Amino acid sequence: MSFLTHLECPICSQSFASEEIQSFCSDCQSPILARYDLISAAGVVDRDEVVIRQQGMWRWHELLPVHNIPNITTLGEGDTALLPIGNLDILQRSINVWIKDESTNPTASFKARGLSAAVSKARELGLDHLAIPTAGNAGSALAAYASRAGMKSTTVMPVDAPKAIINECKLYGAEVVLLDGLISDCAKYVAQLVESGEWFSVSTFREPYRLEGKKTMGYDIAEQFKWLLPDAIIYPTGGGTGLVGMWKAFKELRELNWLEDSKLPRMIAVQSDGCAPIVKAYESGEDHCEFWTGAKTIAGGIRVPHSLADRLILEIIYESGGTAIAVSDEDMRSAQHKLSTQTGILSSLEGAATVAALMKLQADRTIQPEDKVVLFITASGLKYL
Ligand SMILES: *Cc1c(COP(=O)(O)O)cnc(C)c1O
Ligand SMILES: [Zn+2]
Repeated sequence: MSFLTHLECPICSQSFASEEIQSFCSDCQSPILARYDLISAAGVVDRDEVVIRQQGMWRWHELLPVHNIPNITTLGEGDTALLPIGNLDILQRSINVWIKDESTNPTASFKARGLSAAVSKARELGLDHLAIPTAGNAGSALAAYASRAGMKSTTVMPVDAPKAIINECKLYGAEVVLLDGLISDCAKYVAQLVESGEWFSVSTFREPYRLEGKKTMGYDIAEQFKWLLPDAIIYPTGGGTGLVGMWKAFKELRELNWLEDSKLPRMIAVQSDGCAPIVKAYESGEDHCEFWTGAKTIAGGIRVPHSLADRLILEIIYESGGTAIAVSDEDMRSAQHKLSTQTGILSSLEGAATVAALMKLQADRTIQPEDKVVLFITASGLKYL
């Protein structure tokens, strides 16, 4: 089973017991990361045996945080398709561009991976009521997995969250709270109620195990590319769990000695020009982000004015030789239209942002035609109709 040993703060290296309920490092205001005994795992787990296991995120269970199999709460998440992009007239030469299509996950977004891991671990730790501040997708994923685990859930969303997602949460039986504000206001609301002791918050990076679910996107890519990682990954970045998670996965795979080549991809964060705290910090060479005031974009999943993982995200972008780039709402809409009409993929606007970013990065030669690039379609466009 799991080779999880403890949790660790990446800033001060303080260690936290994984047998107890944990949140984040309050000394550093940083997320804490799950650590595994990878040396023992490398001796016991055979990469090529994992490949032939039944599909799904939990086939990586030795590298995930749950010790007792009955606690695993799954709806069939993970192992999504990696598709050649096909013919997209806006790209110069699309032969090396791949789409990681996360829209086929349960609840139609990649948030399913994170919430499957978080709910499973919460069950193992004996929690029974989980709450989440969310732009939408994390809420419906929590609602679904909580129901599956027999737990209660509360989702706190901005009033302008997509109608379909609000209804989705209600259908799963979640308590739905709508606030007139941004996700950061929803986070404050949840934090206050968590202090009352009734709920446990699975807010992005304030709960350490959603990251573990999201990191499996990195394992998927490694396996799908036969353990030779692509040159660049373009990721629509809000809280940054996927970006931090994949980077963690690549480092773990390297430590396990499962990669054919130790070169890691350039990690590229895409944001909206109406909410681009990471792009702004990256462009001025900062090691942390300022809170983005007046955040405004039609892409709710990346309308995140501040992430608790800001320092980690920037470090990864610098270390990997990646970049951070902003695109306009208009560019996202037009990329979404091109994608659906020319490739048959109905992407959310956040996913479409990666296509808009790739156009710019090809134009300024940050991405070369021979580069192998992966774009993340993080959710289905259906959720916003
Ligand atoms: C949550 C979300 C994102 C941002 O994900 P992070 O990993 O938190 O940066 C992007 N796209 C969609 C559709 C989302 O729901
Ligand atoms: Zn710390």
